[in-house]
This record gives sequence, C-alpha cells and structure tokens, in this order.
Amino acid sequence: MRKIQMVDLKGQYEGIKKEVNDSIAEILDSSAFINGPQVHAFQKELEDYLGVKHVIPCANGTDALQICMMGLGLQPGDEVITADFTFAATVEVIALLNLTPVLVDVEPDTFNIDVAAVERAITRKTKAIVPVHLFGQCANMDAIMDLADKHNLYVIEDNAQAIGADYTSKDGRKQKAGTIGHVASTSFFPSKNLGCYGDGGAIFTNDDDLAHTIRGMVNHGMYKRYYHDVVGVNSRLDSIQAAVLRTKLPHLDSYNKRRREAARKYSKAFAGQPNIVVPKTVNGCEGICDTCDCHVFHQYTLKILNGKRDALVQHLNDNGVPCGVYYPVPLHQQKAYRDERYKETDFPVTNQLIHEVMSLPMHTELDDEQIGYITNLVIRFVNS
Ligand SMILES: *Cc1c(COP(=O)(O)O)cnc(C)c1O
Repeated sequence: MRKIQMVDLKGQYEGIKKEVNDSIAEILDSSAFINGPQVHAFQKELEDYLGVKHVIPCANGTDALQICMMGLGLQPGDEVITADFTFAATVEVIALLNLTPVLVDVEPDTFNIDVAAVERAITRKTKAIVPVHLFGQCANMDAIMDLADKHNLYVIEDNAQAIGADYTSKDGRKQKAGTIGHVASTSFFPSKNLGCYGDGGAIFTNDDDLAHTIRGMVNHGMYKRYYHDVVGVNSRLDSIQAAVLRTKLPHLDSYNKRRREAARKYSKAFAGQPNIVVPKTVNGCEGICDTCDCHVFHQYTLKILNGKRDALVQHLNDNGVPCGVYYPVPLHQQKAYRDERYKETDFPVTNQLIHEVMSLPMHTELDDEQIGYITNLVIRFVNS
C-alpha cells in the first residue's frame, strides 16, 4: 500500500508535471514575474469558470478577506458577524482592521454558521456577515442573503474551503460558491481544493464599482501609476503561481469529483456505526451526490460520539494514518479573541464539536486500498 498522506500534493503533481514544468520554464524565460500575462489569463479563466464578473487575484486568502472588508469601506467599530468554528484568519482580519468581530455558533450537522444565531447577534452597529463555507459545503446562503437584505448588511463569503462547490437556491438556481454574496475571498494555499505551489488568493464580486476599488487597493491604492487615491496594500499573485493555477483549473471539477468519490466510500463503510456520524450534505442533494458539486470535501470530517476521539486520533497516527482535528479550540476561547460579550451558553454546538470532530485523509489520490485500511482501523477502534 502507498504511504497515506493527509493531502497528497506530490501524487497530484505527477499527473500534471510536464505541463506545470513547461509553463514555469516559460515564465523564467520571459522574466514577467509579477502581473504578467499568466495572471491576467488566469483571472479571466476563473471568471468564466465561476460565472462571476470580476476576479481580483491577490497574495493569499487572508489578504483577500481583509481587502474585501477594506473595499466595502467598513469602519472601526463596525460589527462583523462570523462563525466561532473556523480557521482564525476569518476573525483575524476583522480585528486587524479595528472592526468588532462578533462570533456566533454553528449548525451541528453541517458545521456552518447558524443563521438564527446570526439574527440574534445583529445590532445597530452590524455592517457585515461573513459566512465560511466550511469543509467544502456552502452555508445557508438563501437565509443569509434574506437576513442581509432585511437589515441592510454586506455578505462576504469566505470561500477558502469550497472553490468549485455549487449552491442550489430555493428557486432551484445553481450558483458557484463565492458568487452569491456581495463579495467573496478564496485561498490557493497548496492544500486547498485549487492550490498553487506557494501562497495565492483571490477576491470575487459581481459589483463593478467594488471591483474597481479593490483592484487599486491590492496594489498600494493606485488607480494611475504613482497616484495613490486610497490606502492600499501590496497583495499580488505572482506569475508562477498563476501558471500553476491555470494548469490545475481545468482539472478542478475532476479533482473535486475524486474527493467526493473518496467521501462516498468513507461514508458507505461507516454506515450504521452507532458512534460515528458521517458528514451531512445539504444544498438540494441527499447523500453524497454523483452528479453535482454540492459538497467538494475540502475536509472529510467525522463526529466520534463515544468520547474516544483523542484516542482514535492517536491510534490512527500510530498506524500510519495522519488525521487532523479542525478545529480544537473555538475562536471565542482563543486568547486573542476573547470578549466580554460572549457567554459559554452562546456556543453549545461549537463547544461540543471541538471534542467530537476529526478529519480523515482527503485528497485526489486516495485509492480503495488506503480507504479500506483507514475505515477498518477506525471502525475496529471505535467499537473496541
Ligand atoms: C485557508 C483559509 C484562509 C486563509 O487562507 P491563506 O491563503 O492561508 O491566507 C481563510 N479562511 C479559511 C476558512 C481558510 O480555510
């Protein structure tokens, strides 16, 4: 059996090696390292793929989120509501801009932001909601957009984990994750579903004025060379990363399909296990769908109900199976983000999830032998 990895970037690279190497060699020959033709071409290709008017590439997913908030003109003291159960980048940029992060609980089955909790947290100072499409599946965007309309709020989608995912609205319309809110951010960190070979990120929006503002902001607030109209940042995607992303983008749907196939095999093996809860897919599809990208499984995350999660993680590691606990500490308990406004009773779901969740190896190169080995180990240990 091949060695099991949490994310097998090398195995994936083998399949596209020549194309990637040739395009990188071309850039080295051209010496157009920043904002070269590769970056513009990638931008257009991603706009077409997503069906969104504007993609603005930038240096990483954290910058992308920060620049979304800058572009919307959020001001110190404005409250921004986001999920307690996510990667810290989401809340970090809110705090960095001197906005006020307001963390709320998530749903127990999808791990995504709880819209009822968002509604309870809205005050006169609230300006924006940041749903995170956690682990590869969209948050309840219909309800979030309705709430945002009602209270005149911006919606910034943190799409770092769900690029390529479809969201099916109440009316049956399908849209790509990250094209539903006012603006969205994504990350091309190597382990994400569309990863480059370094850092990278992008912002998506259908709003022409906002796109214009943001295009200047990513480049020192310049709209005309050496004229700085607004305070900006230096956040650019380089040509080598763009070339890698251009090579991978045509494979994204098949990569996501392979992730979904691995997820389906995992869930089939765990069916009927009383102490294991497999990930739930919503968004119009029951089970793990064969035909659409309702869930793109950035992570395949189980809940282990009998208190054996930590021991199971150890057991898997001891037997050559890497696995992760995303996330072990809720953001409201992190030193950097504690706030008197929170009570522990505000976060019953997150406080429970941190003891139950674990993510199994998930990538495009998992084979049946590896999946069989992993699921057997899990089932035997949980029932022992
Ligand atoms: C990875 C990630 C980010 C940050 O992306 P970087 O490119 O690493 O800065 C932000 N939000 C979420 C939910 C992420 O998973």
